[in-house]
Amino acid sequence: MRIAVVGAGLAGSATAWRLAQRGAQVTLLERATPANPQGSSHGSARIFRYAYPDPFYAKLVVEAREHWSELEDATGATFFRKTGALDFGAVRDPHQLAGVLTEAGVDHELLAAEEAAERWPGIRVDGPVLWHPAAGVIDAQAAVLAMTELARAAGATVHENWTVTAVVESGGRVSVRSADGDELTVDHVVLAAGGWLPELMPAVPVRVRQEQAFHFPYRDPAEAQRWPTFVHKRAGMSTYSLPGGRDADHRGQKVAEYFGGSEIASASANDGIVDPGNRQRLVDYVVRHLPGLIPEPYAETTCVFTCTADENFVIDTVGAVTVASPCSGHGAKFAPLLGAIIADAATGRARPAAKFRLPSAD
Ligand SMILES: Cc1cc2nc3c(=O)[nH]c(=O)nc-3n(C[C@H](O)[C@H](O)[C@H](O)COP(=O)(O)OP(=O)(O)OC[C@H]3O[C@@H](n4cnc5c(N)ncnc54)[C@H](O)[C@@H]3O)c2cc1C
Repeated sequence: MRIAVVGAGLAGSATAWRLAQRGAQVTLLERATPANPQGSSHGSARIFRYAYPDPFYAKLVVEAREHWSELEDATGATFFRKTGALDFGAVRDPHQLAGVLTEAGVDHELLAAEEAAERWPGIRVDGPVLWHPAAGVIDAQAAVLAMTELARAAGATVHENWTVTAVVESGGRVSVRSADGDELTVDHVVLAAGGWLPELMPAVPVRVRQEQAFHFPYRDPAEAQRWPTFVHKRAGMSTYSLPGGRDADHRGQKVAEYFGGSEIASASANDGIVDPGNRQRLVDYVVRHLPGLIPEPYAETTCVFTCTADENFVIDTVGAVTVASPCSGHGAKFAPLLGAIIADAATGRARPAAKFRLPSAD
């Protein structure tokens, strides 16, 4: 089976790897370079955590962890660093999350605010806290490059600077056309174009947002290795934070507001300009809640989030096209597993979970 995979971010590279591993004839088409900074899979730090209100996703993380180990075994490289994770805030419900983790078999502790403050004096919590030590941080960019290389080693062809402008189905085959006038005919196409998906398939119910993240220095650099990731959800402002890793020169914590940015038509419209109002909100947040950080960002970036209304991923096949948008700001942690799920969808081996399907495809 000849399959073109459009987009070499986490989703596309993982899919190309899994398909090539299974013997498909794969061509991976990327408008720029794998894990380029205009997409969503660049840089060294994404949160890997098990605590989801929905048990479906918590169990999926357990499965995904095995796939990360497989990727590490296949490459001899390390993409995961254990840091542990905290969940707190008036609209986070640590008790409910603890129940989900029990069901998923993930070790955790529920702590009173005072106990958490003693353990993590750099973080000022505002209520009970869920701690699960198995969480960590994954290196997104290194994973994309590794999965692209594994795909290539398994026989895939990778074309960089190959922008797909049209996908046309006819007579059971699909033609993929490029901006330079090239054409490729295959049996099936996987569209893993991230924030550019609305340009290629406007009917898919995915919206695109320009968000931003800020790096704040640790007051005590000797404590850098002790900082966990966290999710703090409360009315008015919800934040996430993680050690910034290589991107932040290993000397700071990345802090960002969930949905603190604005909607854009597609990733092409990301102007790269950080909103000064959002920067100030995060500085104020660090002053109030993160006394272990110096409230002066030393690095900042805009980034593209693709979102669905219910925060579920979109993975489904219509005709000879599989759409894959593992998005809403939480898709990175599942990448090697999603590659297998998307490959199953593309080859007809198994349908994705009902949660991932397009409304019209049921
Ligand atoms: C700032 C930020 C923080 C995040 N934090 C977390 C986190 O902590 N934990 C977590 O689990 N997830 C997180 N996520 C989500 C996760 O990173 C994304 O779900 C994931 O990277 C999406 O990957 P993708 O392959 O779908 O999209 P992308 O990485 O954007 O890849 C799409 C690729 O398609 C290419 N492309 C687009 N159009 C075309 C075309 N026409 N022709 C050819 N190529 C094309 C693009 O150049 C790009 O390389 C975060 C995302 C962002 C942006």
